[in-house]
Amino acid sequence: GDDGAAVVAAVEAVAERIEEERDHLTQLDSAIGDADHGGNMARGWAEAADAARDLDDPDAETVAKTVGKTLMGEVGGASGPLFGGSLVFAAGELDEGITSETAVAFAETYLEKVEDRGDARVGDQTMVDALTPAVHTFKKSIEVDDLDPIEALAKAVDAAERGVAFTVPIRARKGRASYLGWRSVGHQDPGATSTLFILEELLAVAA
Ligand code: ADP
Ligand code: MG
Ligand code: MG
Repeated sequence: GDDGAAVVAAVEAVAERIEEERDHLTQLDSAIGDADHGGNMARGWAEAADAARDLDDPDAETVAKTVGKTLMGEVGGASGPLFGGSLVFAAGELDEGITSETAVAFAETYLEKVEDRGDARVGDQTMVDALTPAVHTFKKSIEVDDLDPIEALAKAVDAAERGVAFTVPIRARKGRASYLGWRSVGHQDPGATSTLFILEELLAVAA
């Protein structure tokens, strides 16, 4: 269907962006981790785009599930199960296609799953610092401010950008960076950064 084709196009845009940002993400992860986030994500999203393209006239839920499963299998590390597993789970919210309502439900379920699996909250210097303000802003923009989904997504991207900046002056409490203790302060979180790139591409494709 149309929604399925739009999701495939979004996945292709994300894969391309992540490939462009591979070295950037690797640099961020080399400062506070093990220098594999760029490679992990580039491999995973390239495979996910291939898997999505191979589907025959899929609906949005099927594309999201396929991409999630592929990310789970290919990204590895701490971030693979978080990005992939949460996507597989949240994909079920798209079973009636993509509307403002299902998009909010999808975003909220995805965030809940990341929190469940990783046990990180805002302020732990992880992807949750980008994701939480993005999801909260998206929901509020639609449900309270009555914005259309594209305007709401643009607000969410701005919020994620501020979330990424917020990871710099705080200490890591989860993931590999937490092993550094106070030495993690002053560094931008790789997973928050890749989360922002994904959201920027979703907006670029939707707009
Ligand atoms: P690894 O650290 O296992 O090498 P990656 O480098 O691919 O995995 O991903 C690191 C990113 O994963 C971090 O920058 C952070 O955003 C995210 N992350 C790690 N642990 C958690 C967690 N428990 N909860 C949420 N995000 C996490
Ligand atoms: Mg790493
Ligand atoms: Mg690793």
